[in-house]
Amino acid sequence: MDENITELISDLRTYLEYLKGMGITSLPVAENVPEKVPRSETLTLADVRTELGDCKRCKLHRTRKTIVFGEGNEKATLMFIGEGPGYDEDMQGRPFVGRAGQLLTKIIESINLSREEVYIANIIKCRPPQNRNPEPDEIESCNPFLMKQIRVIQPKIICALGTFSAQTLLKTDTKITALRGKLYDLEGIKVIPTYHPAFLLRNPERKREVWEDMKKIAELLNNA
Ligand code: SF4
Repeated sequence: MDENITELISDLRTYLEYLKGMGITSLPVAENVPEKVPRSETLTLADVRTELGDCKRCKLHRTRKTIVFGEGNEKATLMFIGEGPGYDEDMQGRPFVGRAGQLLTKIIESINLSREEVYIANIIKCRPPQNRNPEPDEIESCNPFLMKQIRVIQPKIICALGTFSAQTLLKTDTKITALRGKLYDLEGIKVIPTYHPAFLLRNPERKREVWEDMKKIAELLNNA
C-alpha cells in the first residue's frame, strides 16, 4: 500500500480512538450537502432531446407550434439561458432568432465569440400564449431538461438573460437589477445574470451595463 495512505489510515485510526476516549461513538453525516450538478460523460444532447420527445408535460404544448430545444456547441464553455421562445422562435424552432436574438448575436460577438461557439437555451422550451410570463408549474416541468442540457455541456459560465432565467437558476426572488453583473454559483458553474436582450431593445440606455457584464465574462473565460 502507498506509504501516504498507510499514514493517513493510521492518523485516522488515532483520531477515532481519541474521539472514542472522549465518549463520542458516532459521527454526524451531513444531510444538507447541496446536490452537485451530476456530470455526465455519457449522456448527449441528442439523448436529452429524445427523452423530451413530443413533450406534453405542461399546458404550453397546446399552443406551441415548435419545441425550441436550444442550439450551439455541445462543448461550449459559455452558455446563455433566456426566458422562453417568442413568435419567431416558435415558428423556426430555434432560440433567439427574432430582433432580441439579433441583439444577442451582437452581444456574443462583442467578446469575440460566435453563436456556433456558445450554447443558447431557454428556461422553458415552448412559447407561452401572447408571450406572457412563464408560470411556475411550466418552469418546474421544463427545468429537468434544461438541467440535463447543462450537465451534458458542462459550461464554465452561464449567462442568465433576464429576470426569469436568473431567478429560476439561482432560486431567488431578487430582482434582476440587483442580481446583474454579480457572480453566483450553480453547483460549481459560475452564473452571471444580465439584462435580457428584449429589455435592451426597450431600454437601450442599459446596454452599457450589459457590456460591463460581458467584459467580466470574457475575463473569466480567459482565466478559466
Ligand atoms: S414548456 Fe417544456 S415541459 Fe412544457 S410542454 Fe414545452 S417542452 Fe414540455
